[in-house]
Amino acid sequence: MSRTTPDLLASQQSELTAIRRDIHRHPETAFEEQRTSQIVADKLTSWGIEVHRGLATTGVVGTLKGKRAGQKTIGLRADMDALHLQEKNEFDYASSVPNKMHACGHDGHTTMLLGAARHLAKAPDFAGTVHFIFQPAEEGLGGARVMIEEGLFDKFNCDAVYGMHNMPGFPKGHFAIRSGAMLASSDSWEVTFKGTGGHGAMPDRGTDPTYVAAQFIVAVQGIIGRNVVSTQAAVLSVGHISAGTAGSPNVIPSEVLIKGTARSFSPSVRSLLERRLAEVAAGIAQSGGCEAVSKYFRRYPALINAVEQTSIAVEAAALTVGRENVQPNTPPIAGAEDFAYLLEKKPGAYIMIGNGGTEEGGCHNVHSPLYDFNDEILTTGAAYWVNLVQLELGDLIAV
Ligand SMILES: [Zn+2]
Ligand SMILES: [Zn+2]
Repeated sequence: MSRTTPDLLASQQSELTAIRRDIHRHPETAFEEQRTSQIVADKLTSWGIEVHRGLATTGVVGTLKGKRAGQKTIGLRADMDALHLQEKNEFDYASSVPNKMHACGHDGHTTMLLGAARHLAKAPDFAGTVHFIFQPAEEGLGGARVMIEEGLFDKFNCDAVYGMHNMPGFPKGHFAIRSGAMLASSDSWEVTFKGTGGHGAMPDRGTDPTYVAAQFIVAVQGIIGRNVVSTQAAVLSVGHISAGTAGSPNVIPSEVLIKGTARSFSPSVRSLLERRLAEVAAGIAQSGGCEAVSKYFRRYPALINAVEQTSIAVEAAALTVGRENVQPNTPPIAGAEDFAYLLEKKPGAYIMIGNGGTEEGGCHNVHSPLYDFNDEILTTGAAYWVNLVQLELGDLIAV
């Protein structure tokens, strides 16, 4: 078994580009990916791949068994959803749906995995089983978590899981990954400070939650500076404050609501942030004669790549584009991704593929109204998936 280079998949380029642009033109947001999942299911079926539908409403799982006997199973995952955003691109395949847009490249992720499925189905020269997992609702609503809750791994056991995301501004078709924490957990929190409020001229006659809230906002950054271990990274930011009415500046409000985000790269730091936000809020509230009601909402966990699967992913990337084009120890990124839920259950690895800079035909950052996935990396991503499968289940050997 020899490695699969992007050139070997060149005959698929025009078909994959057509699929990608069709999905781009018809973006669908969380749990409503009906048309997209129909395309995915139809393509997989036409290539002789067994299809299961309906996990997390629009999820599709294609199962391909190797022609040689083997017990090992791996899951390869692509996300299918678009964003609520008005596209500003003017090319002919720009979004036809107002305020919806594939601005994160999930159209490309879906297409790259389809390209790999098609290539592997032609000659499944491996031992074991591949599950191609097409999931809805990566953007904010945790489609991966819902697929797990609805029995993804009960129905489709996976010994390891792999994911991939494009990265604008990183050279076209290059790969970047790291072992351990690669993306942050993304949680939100809110604190309501309650006091009596009263006349702005007579603060001595009541308690003032605005004074308490002001101290709290400053003290929050002390959690990062004084409580989080100095070798760990974390972020706490305030994103919303509301109190009083704009027409009554002489009234001390009785309640102040503060909302923010919390990012960290380990479960222990995440728990520390949750605990200390509530403790600091309660302590400062008490000092001002007020009460604090704290809530913390755990959303996406930190994405933590397993050591063994990360090295397999590095080798698959090196076989695809050459070792000199693979960064095996890229710095962590404070963004979040719901593939982390799969990695909480199974060992695996999540890799970034360069979408190129604007000078390389790439585009603006993800979530920009001018973003576009770079079709030139479709066969590179597909070849990576094929090499990964052959390393895990076939005879391909790392060089
Ligand atoms: Zn996104
Ligand atoms: Zn994304």
